[in-house]
Amino acid sequence: MKKYNLLYVDDEESNLRIFKDAFRRKYNVFTASSTKEGIEILEKYDIDLVLSDQRMPEMSGVDFLRYSLKKFPAMNRILITAYSDFEAIEEAINRAHIFQYIKKPWDQRHLEKIIQNALRLYMLQKENKEKTEALKKTKEKLEKSEAKYKLLSDVSFEGIFIHDKGIIIEVNAALLKMFGYKRIDLIGKNVIDLLLLENYNPFVTEKKESNVPIEVIAIRKDGSKFPAEIQSRFIKDKGNKILKAEAIRDISERKNMEQQYFQMQKMEAIGKLAGGIAHDFNNLLTVINGFSEILLNRLHQEDPIRKEIGEIRKAGERANSLTSQLLAFSRRQLIKPKRININTCVQDIEKMLRRIIGEDIELETILDPDLANIKADKSQIDQVIMNLAINARDAINDVGKLTIETNNVVIDEEYVKNHISMKPGRYVMLAISDNGCGMDRETLSKIFEPFFTTKEAGKGTGLGLSTVYGIIKQNNGYIWVYSEPGQGTTFKIYFPRVDEPVEKDNEIKVPTGSLKGDEVILVVEDDYSVRKLTVEFLSKFGYSLLEAENGKEALTLLQKKSIYVDLIITDVIMPKMSGRELEKRIAKSHPKTKILFVSGYTDNAIAHHGVLEEGVNFLSKPFRPLELAQKVRMILDEK
Ligand code: ADP
Ligand code: MG
Repeated sequence: MKKYNLLYVDDEESNLRIFKDAFRRKYNVFTASSTKEGIEILEKYDIDLVLSDQRMPEMSGVDFLRYSLKKFPAMNRILITAYSDFEAIEEAINRAHIFQYIKKPWDQRHLEKIIQNALRLYMLQKENKEKTEALKKTKEKLEKSEAKYKLLSDVSFEGIFIHDKGIIIEVNAALLKMFGYKRIDLIGKNVIDLLLLENYNPFVTEKKESNVPIEVIAIRKDGSKFPAEIQSRFIKDKGNKILKAEAIRDISERKNMEQQYFQMQKMEAIGKLAGGIAHDFNNLLTVINGFSEILLNRLHQEDPIRKEIGEIRKAGERANSLTSQLLAFSRRQLIKPKRININTCVQDIEKMLRRIIGEDIELETILDPDLANIKADKSQIDQVIMNLAINARDAINDVGKLTIETNNVVIDEEYVKNHISMKPGRYVMLAISDNGCGMDRETLSKIFEPFFTTKEAGKGTGLGLSTVYGIIKQNNGYIWVYSEPGQGTTFKIYFPRVDEPVEKDNEIKVPTGSLKGDEVILVVEDDYSVRKLTVEFLSKFGYSLLEAENGKEALTLLQKKSIYVDLIITDVIMPKMSGRELEKRIAKSHPKTKILFVSGYTDNAIAHHGVLEEGVNFLSKPFRPLELAQKVRMILDEK
């Protein structure tokens, strides 16, 4: 197999080294410590993919990538940034047409996947170009020999027609097949009947020939349309009259794949943004909700400002539910996957579904009695079914039908060809269909984006399907949607099947007794307000509290004081020393001290792809103070 040539430009030598070490076995890795050097390499070698740092002394990454786009448009580009520099990212997407961006420090596996995808798309584009070239050669030959012309044009897979100022005078067999016409119907017709003439003008007479095919929309006899590529040549007939020959190719399949790639990359990019926003809001919401709850508890039942604070609390709760949906979309929600059966999920919520969709909508469930199990978080699957059912209800005007179906399916190589992100294998399928209003293409291309809604303000949040999408991806599944305006909609969801039996649910124990205690708790948190809230609240239950701003400070404190700490409550991501690092450092010196991690973010530090590590105590932000008190008591009471 061919080894691809990668170029990585970064002014930081250590980054170049790490990159090279990681990828040199699989690829030919070129590195450059300045954009000047980068340009030299681009000119000298045949680079397939270029990656660039954003902040560099003599030229920004975006400018460098724009330059490379101009000079070497065929290869793909990836931007690497150290900051949430959204402006640069946006500019890189719009003006340098980057394939993806990634943040430093990068996750090795993640970067590798992006590189692989970029190279796959690159190959696809290249193949297409080669085919076009071959087609060009065929046509050149065609011009040379009048005798061979008929034969050649009839064996061609490309549709070919010759016209005189728009009037069709000759066609080949492939063209007839492509457009669904008989020869006799087509001779004498106008080009306008075959093509939408938006960016293509068949009537130009001057001898300006372009070697680049033009994309057009073609119209079949039955009126249906398909994307096509067309390339023309001027030819002379025997009487030296100038005619035009056009070769045309159906590119539906390629368009479909490009569309899927584009969609995948777009969702990935939006997911990152959404996750970042949710993370920042979680700290703020912990404070807003926490202090309003504390205030509410402190105020007298008849206090006149109770109502106002209650409103703050309510708004905070709503914001809370929004951020948690954003987190679900960006696959950062913490999950506890177990082996479950989707039939059970459907049966468990069927009653509730009927209530939600109302009496005018019939609900039919067709569940495969031999349905295999999957590994997923049950509450998330319930949420998926619920969101899809609610959308179906909204799509049905008055009376209609909602169908939920489950099946075991095998996905083969053939199917994967048209569904590029999928891997062949055995899956469990969940299909949810309605006979409601359906969707047009424009709507379909956006439905999974957060905040996309066609519903009037107050009715839709636009977060339903983005949540569904995130959940399915987090559980290693796939989702496809089939819909036509007026024809209803079907969502098909696939999860990898597992052969082991269903697992038991272990109930979460909530302490029933008193939440009070006299233990010593150290709170490690870099956000001042969150730390104060935690300390203030827990001290009411009788605990003695110590504070530290980060892991390093906590460590100093633990080493200096000769006191015994029963529990450390620590944020996961902090400057100087992370929560996890702190845990490691004190493992030997404080073996009995328990640790509770708190985070708004299921970072890889404690969870792998959102799946919590065994034996880790975790509370997600924003938490309610009472929840914290319960969790603390529970951990301290554990043997
Ligand atoms: P919301 O329901 O809040 O609008 P969603 O993310 O759940 O947000 O859905 C986004 C959009 O997708 C909807 O506004 C609607 O236009 C479209 N949509 C989703 N499901 C269906 C469906 N079953 N039939 C028709 N349109 C749908
Ligand atoms: Mg919805």
